[in-house]
Amino acid sequence: MNWQLQYEPNHQHCGEACLTLTQHNRCEPLRRWFGPMATQLARWLRASHSKISGQHPTTINKSLAQQLLMQASFHHQACLHRYHVTQDLPAQSPAMCDVLLYLRMSRLHPCQDTMETLLNTQMPHCQDLEDILQRLVQAELIQCINSGSQRFYDKNPYPHDHILDTQTDRLFDYTGPEDLSATRILIQPHAARYWIH
Ligand SMILES: [Zn+2]
Repeated sequence: MNWQLQYEPNHQHCGEACLTLTQHNRCEPLRRWFGPMATQLARWLRASHSKISGQHPTTINKSLAQQLLMQASFHHQACLHRYHVTQDLPAQSPAMCDVLLYLRMSRLHPCQDTMETLLNTQMPHCQDLEDILQRLVQAELIQCINSGSQRFYDKNPYPHDHILDTQTDRLFDYTGPEDLSATRILIQPHAARYWIH
């Protein structure tokens, strides 16, 4: 039986990768990984098997599909420890752990849409994303940054300045005046004012 792998480095233009494993003749993917987990598994596949390339689906055999599922499981467990998720959420649901793990692994400040893409790709059985995000914010493990109608999430729960790039709708940490431009807005914590430079 053949299996198919597809790696998308910029899934739906959200800035995150997605790796999809599908069993031949099935419409629904067997497993999908989103964000840095997808990138790291794709790197492992290339290093061990040189099987996947580009964005086109690649056919793999059952043995490699099984190895990938095992590697993904080991890597996931290792990351839960490495990113202190198990330590910070000792008695929480796997879904809540996975949301915090994604945020801690990601280099982005993901927006609400990206969080929903995480849910739709990697965690299709999770129904309560809003509740999970709210509880993580209340526990001060992450923070939520609102800007107009946009909402972003940050793995750094401590107050700090951000830049909203209005051309790309991306939020990132402010590092200095060189970050500012006509289309970039400085957002300061607990401040009612926004500056347009
Ligand atoms: Zn930040």
